[in-house]
Amino acid sequence: MSIRVACLCGNVAIELGGEPVARANCHCSSCRDFYGVTVFSATAWEASSVQMASFDARSFSHPHKQLKKTFCATCGEVVFGTNRLCMRVVPNAMLARAGCGWLDVAMAPTMHLYYRQRVVEVRDELP
Ligand SMILES: [Zn+2]
Ligand SMILES: [Zn+2]
Repeated sequence: MSIRVACLCGNVAIELGGEPVARANCHCSSCRDFYGVTVFSATAWEASSVQMASFDARSFSHPHKQLKKTFCATCGEVVFGTNRLCMRVVPNAMLARAGCGWLDVAMAPTMHLYYRQRVVEVRDELP
């Protein structure tokens, strides 16, 4: 299985091969601060599963945490983050866009991470 996802302007695209290692909604303060979201809903991939199909990308490393984000130099959208395990973390918003607005069930989060650090309550069936 291979999925191509692109940023809003289309200048940066990534090709995802195989299956994600993890699928989660992360509530940790690091994700909130770094990605500017209340909950970071994303899939994590081995670095070798993610190929850049465009090179109009920039990256920014967190000043003191092992986090990096790669984003489009034109539209600013984050196409993936890199966590301290060197995995690529792809926002589910990008995957949903690639799926015509829906997140494929194979990509849907299976858990909440760091729920104790949450700033919003989420009531669903996920652990
Ligand atoms: Zn773009
Ligand atoms: Zn997090």
